[in-house]
Amino acid sequence: MASSRADLDGNSIKPMTICMIGAGGFIGSHLCEKLMAETPHKVLAVDVYNDKINHLLEPSSSPWAERIQFHRINIKNDSRLEGLIRMADLTINLAAICTPADYNTRPLDTIYSNFIDALPVVKYCSENSKRLIHFSTCEVYGKTVGCFLPKDSPLRQEPANYVLSEDTSPCIFGPIEKQRWSYACAKQLIERLIYAEGAENGLEFTIVRPFNWIGPRMDFIPGIDGPSEGVPRVLACFSNNLLRGEPLKLVDGGESQRTFVYIKDAIEAVLLMIENPARANGHIFNVGNPNNEVTVRQLAEMMTQVYTKVSGEPALASPTIDISSKEFYGEGYDDSDKRIPDMTIINRQLGWNPKTSLWDLLESTLTYQHRTYAEAVKKSTSVPVSS
Ligand code: NAD
Ligand code: UDP
Repeated sequence: MASSRADLDGNSIKPMTICMIGAGGFIGSHLCEKLMAETPHKVLAVDVYNDKINHLLEPSSSPWAERIQFHRINIKNDSRLEGLIRMADLTINLAAICTPADYNTRPLDTIYSNFIDALPVVKYCSENSKRLIHFSTCEVYGKTVGCFLPKDSPLRQEPANYVLSEDTSPCIFGPIEKQRWSYACAKQLIERLIYAEGAENGLEFTIVRPFNWIGPRMDFIPGIDGPSEGVPRVLACFSNNLLRGEPLKLVDGGESQRTFVYIKDAIEAVLLMIENPARANGHIFNVGNPNNEVTVRQLAEMMTQVYTKVSGEPALASPTIDISSKEFYGEGYDDSDKRIPDMTIINRQLGWNPKTSLWDLLESTLTYQHRTYAEAVKKSTSVPVSS
């Protein structure tokens, strides 16, 4: 870890203190790891959980012990939050309910978490003249313009009708009764509020729109390190099916398209934002990998192949099964059809490009899933021998 690090313009980077809210989650844990291993910065890690960063907090003899502190705080109702934001040079807000199964079944919690609970963070940053990096989502784009065109229309092939650009694409959500959009709408409103704080009160902000970042430690495996009935995001759902030798469930035929980016590539982009404020402030950034596009069905097929390779276990004769969204998620579910990020702005401002192919990122992620969970899943499913 060199303290003579330079930013993209050749200026030396001074060590800073970062208040990271939601540091105990999937993205937060990777960002904490990166900051501890490769930078001299300090992290005030705020979350209600710390299982995913425990390896960084202990033992107290670790080389970065002095540079990371965990604060078990629920930001909904804790007066210590403002003090931590004031102590820091930069606040990064990752805290959110962000699993689609919650958007239509717990819409109030989803809206409170993604909008109301983020308000004090924005306010404290603005009032104390502190920089803010806020995590939004690619879901603010909603559906593509192209999906409203006839299926056989050649206009569907025009990039303008499906590539999602920060400064030109509209945000297209379904009707209110499709409560899936509660999350996207709350994220959009907090983005607008942050943008307005920048315009009217000079808040220095950066907004990040992640496009399906995946990798180790994402979500949980139901019944092992999360609730048996819980429904995590697709990587963990499919990992769970593979670990249990069950068919992977394709919601509404698995026709939706996604681009997946490896968490370690995406964290490089966040570090560039942290260390290059002059290039990152005032911007909204798509962070994704446009080269890794697949339908959910293709993802299921690739994960099945990769898992066979890393586990040595043969694939099922019928590795996937179709399920309706109503049966899988319940009433009020809807979906984004296609998500290709325009990379122009992040390329121009930060020179960032993703590197890892979908096959490679699935290979390292499923190797981790197999190593971490296969034994526990086997134990949980083995029938006890009666005496
Ligand atoms: P995550 O659920 O793993 O992490 C969120 C963390 O926030 C959790 O550890 C949770 O305990 C914490 N948190 C939630 N409410 C809190 C509260 N009231 N007080 C304190 N801590 C609280 O999710 P993630 O994938 O790491 O996502 C982080 C951010 O990135 C979220 O804002 C999410 O909307 C956004 N995002 C992520 C992706 C992705 O691909 N992973 C995609 C789009 C958007
Ligand atoms: N999905 C699926 N089977 C599952 C879990 C998810 O077919 O077991 C689909 C889901 O309907 C969506 C896509 O996979 O089309 C990605 O879902 P994810 O939960 O990762 O979140 P999203 O990308 O929609 O935010």
